[in-house]
Amino acid sequence: MLKGFTRYISNKLNRKAEPRLSQKRTLSRAEHPISRSEIHEGALKVLYRLHKSGHQAYLVGGCIRDRLLGKNPKDFDVATDATPEEVNQLFRNSRIIGRRFRIVHVRFGRDIIEVTTFRGQAKTENTAHHRQSDEGMLLRDNVWGSIEEDAARRDFTINALYYNIADFSVYDFTGGLEDIKNRRLRLIGDPETRYREDPVRMLRAIRFMAKLDFELEEQTAAPIREHAELLLQVAPARLFDEVLKLFLSGQALKTFHLLQEYHLFGMLFPASYEAFKVNPTSLRLVEQALANTDQRIHEDRPVAPAFLYAALLWPGLLQINEDLLKRGTPPFPAMQQAGNRLLQRQNQHITIPKRFAFPMREIWDLQLKLPKRQGKQAWRLLQEPRFRAAYDFLLLRETAGEATEGLAAWWTEFQRSDQAGQQQLQSQLGRPKKPRGRRRSRKTPQTPS
Ligand code: ATP
Ligand code: MG
Repeated sequence: MLKGFTRYISNKLNRKAEPRLSQKRTLSRAEHPISRSEIHEGALKVLYRLHKSGHQAYLVGGCIRDRLLGKNPKDFDVATDATPEEVNQLFRNSRIIGRRFRIVHVRFGRDIIEVTTFRGQAKTENTAHHRQSDEGMLLRDNVWGSIEEDAARRDFTINALYYNIADFSVYDFTGGLEDIKNRRLRLIGDPETRYREDPVRMLRAIRFMAKLDFELEEQTAAPIREHAELLLQVAPARLFDEVLKLFLSGQALKTFHLLQEYHLFGMLFPASYEAFKVNPTSLRLVEQALANTDQRIHEDRPVAPAFLYAALLWPGLLQINEDLLKRGTPPFPAMQQAGNRLLQRQNQHITIPKRFAFPMREIWDLQLKLPKRQGKQAWRLLQEPRFRAAYDFLLLRETAGEATEGLAAWWTEFQRSDQAGQQQLQSQLGRPKKPRGRRRSRKTPQTPS
């Protein structure tokens, strides 16, 4: 009964959400700056082949938006009336991916062109192609439609501009050209319903605001704080990529402040969010890490996701670690347990794939090993594959004001010195400390239960 009622309400909301499209506006080739010479060769091949096979074929999304803003597009997305199967048959180098949202990836070397079939409004409630939760979240969105319907299903007006390969004109169905001109980010349709359908759109709003330096239109901004918790319904695996995109946009620091402002950060990284309140130093570490990330992106240097996540999660880790130390757990097991507990909680929000979680934990573990430099240890540590990342992380902790007793400066010197210099640095440390009451301590269990 209640279920039926919720569905009734959510359908009502959806109906309200059906956007009334403003009149179609067309820019002829002479009226816009998008030139074929700037379009990815692979994307052009896809467009031409679809067109020659009798299909409609458009470039859509970020590539059109960015070109109109004079920026270099990150990727090229294609929209067509061909079904995924038809696209798949046209390209040997393609495969159909996704269940919730089926699309085709066409591969050209290391680049992938995403080809999406026009989405339409579902006629009936739940079918094999279209499913929505009682709360209005889209669980499956594979109903095909016309280009007009497709435009209405996209997120922001500035992302719903289409470049037609048939005559090189640009179509605007939702007022995106006007919004680009006014540097305004506006959701298509009723914002609350669109966020309910897909809460990731709240993160995308933050990303585009930060990356493009656009203002978030009032009605698009209004529901975010109140509905931030909707993010908890999104599959944690999907959020890993989305969050990475947020922080690799070249505007990570600004993005972080916006996430905080819109109450979204705590939904993604709850342990760090709580730790900021107890220990403000840890906030500085995250800010510094993000500022460094932006710097690296602007210098075209690579950013390791493991390092980024190590920093984003560090505040929460420190908090748990401190608790365990207070209760008498020795440092190494405490760090291990803190890592386990933190990741167990974190994975309910964002699943961190193992290939990133392992190196991330190595960076953390090495923070405990870096102070142990006596004897051969220093040279051994230097050989660790993750030494460089761990050393950078140590620098970060120091810049953020964590007390590390000049450890980073010592390691900087050690790496710069020749062998004689290194030996001198070591002798300054004195002999390795023998733990007092060693024999006794061996008998005591290392890990408390
Ligand atoms: P970027 O520069 O990051 O690639 P983009 O806008 O192209 O930005 P994509 O993730 O590549 O972002 O998505 C391509 C297009 O697909 C978007 O421009 C938008 O039209 C549509 N889209 C993507 N995600 C959503 C979503 N969650 N809801 C509705 N439409 C979406
Ligand atoms: Mg894109």
